[in-house]
Amino acid sequence: MALILKFCIDLFAILLLALGIKGLSKVRSAREANRLAAVAMAIAVFGVLIGSFGSLLESPEAWVWIILGSALGGSLGAFTAQSVAMTAMPETVALFNGCGGMSSLLVALAVRLFPATDSSSGVIETVSIVISVFVGSITFTGSIVAMAKLKGWLSTPAWMQSKIRHFINIVLSVLSFVAIVSLIGGSDNELWLLVASSALLGIGVTLPIGGADMPVVISLLNSYSGVAAAAAGFVVGSQLLIVAGAMVGAAGLILTQVMCNGMNRSLVSVLFGGAIGSTSSGENNSTEYVNITSCSVEECALTLEAAERVVIVPGYGLAVAQAQHTLREVTRALEGNGIDVIYAIHPVAGRMPGHMNVLLAEADVPYEQLKEMDIVNPEFPATDVVLVLGANDVVNPQAKNDPTSPLFGMPVLDVQEARTVFVIKRGMSSGYSGIKNDLFDLANTSMVFGDAKKVLGDLLLELKELGISAKG
Ligand code: NDP
Repeated sequence: MALILKFCIDLFAILLLALGIKGLSKVRSAREANRLAAVAMAIAVFGVLIGSFGSLLESPEAWVWIILGSALGGSLGAFTAQSVAMTAMPETVALFNGCGGMSSLLVALAVRLFPATDSSSGVIETVSIVISVFVGSITFTGSIVAMAKLKGWLSTPAWMQSKIRHFINIVLSVLSFVAIVSLIGGSDNELWLLVASSALLGIGVTLPIGGADMPVVISLLNSYSGVAAAAAGFVVGSQLLIVAGAMVGAAGLILTQVMCNGMNRSLVSVLFGGAIGSTSSGENNSTEYVNITSCSVEECALTLEAAERVVIVPGYGLAVAQAQHTLREVTRALEGNGIDVIYAIHPVAGRMPGHMNVLLAEADVPYEQLKEMDIVNPEFPATDVVLVLGANDVVNPQAKNDPTSPLFGMPVLDVQEARTVFVIKRGMSSGYSGIKNDLFDLANTSMVFGDAKKVLGDLLLELKELGISAKG
């Protein structure tokens, strides 16, 4: 009876989860969809408790662990999610991926070390345990390294940039393989060897990666956490965990492919080629600028007044400044004056996939005005003014023109093709990749120095003085 009830609850939770994930594909429904998915997971936990009610009655002390674990994990999760700044999202995602990997690892270890019955486990259970341990360990250590690198707590040691790392990773892979084969063959002795070798492999693969490759690695680790969860689902017989893990695994892989395309990098070169960006050195990596033109907010407002078509390029700095609402007021004023305004969205702008979409949705920017890079690039020659707001790497022409540049090959927004480009940033510091931006030296580029929120606030006042303000 309890098993039938658990099956029905699992099925209901799976349906809710699928609806939640579908809703995440639209910015407007994403918030509600996220809540729906959270409710689905809560229902699934309830289902697991119902399914194990009989055995839980026999060991009342298990309730203490369940209640303590849920209270502690739930409060930590809620606190982290509430307090995290938008700009710290990537490291939070990395941390959560790591927690997912660790949970799958612990579940598989517990089932292997403390089997419920004395009978030996079947092949499916053994293979699932091995996959959970292997992928869970890699995900856990890899994600913690990724988080520490994004936080700036950890940098790549020099020897990790050399070929020695390939040798070390090959040795660790062989050790893991040997342990996997003997565990599947029925031995128990190699369990800790598998845990140690795969945990070290996670560190060995992730530590050399950095710079602009980090988003790809995080979405790949996200996919791994899904695979580990699906395997753990087989271990504990949870349909929901199998379905949710498979969805996360597949979605993470698709996202990894999208990110690779966005940066024109193959997955192999990301994983084995070392970092591009901050840790690499291109020949033309000088940060000397020779032809910088800066201008006042007033000059910027006068040029905007005469424009017919304006393209906004948001970047990481816009998120740091939290200037999305002020930006929306500026664009409302421009639109009120008959100026055509669109937003050019680069796939890796900001610090997480979809960062700019989320940021602009917060300020009620109509979704139709957001244009992807491939759509907007041919339109720059017919654009009067481009406002680059806290973006840097995603508008660096070196990526197209300089084969020695670490960014070479990454598709970028061709803003330099527009008549006039205003770059709004605080100073001349580089972007995430740590390299010079040739855009800033071009004759049609003017720098407007200052915090994006302050500059946009001043711009709004200047536009008002020119009689340009939002209508209605
Ligand atoms: P960048 O990181 O290249 O540049 C951001 C710029 O914003 C800086 O040059 C900085 O210059 C400026 N800035 C910072 N604070 C402010 C502020 N308050 N007001 C105005 N300007 C400010 O950003 P992009 O969005 O162009 O590129 C994203 C980069 O991050 C890419 O290299 C991408 O690969 C990488 N990345 C992306 C992830 C993703 O998933 N999207 C995840 C991890 C990395 P200054 O200090 O002079 O103001």
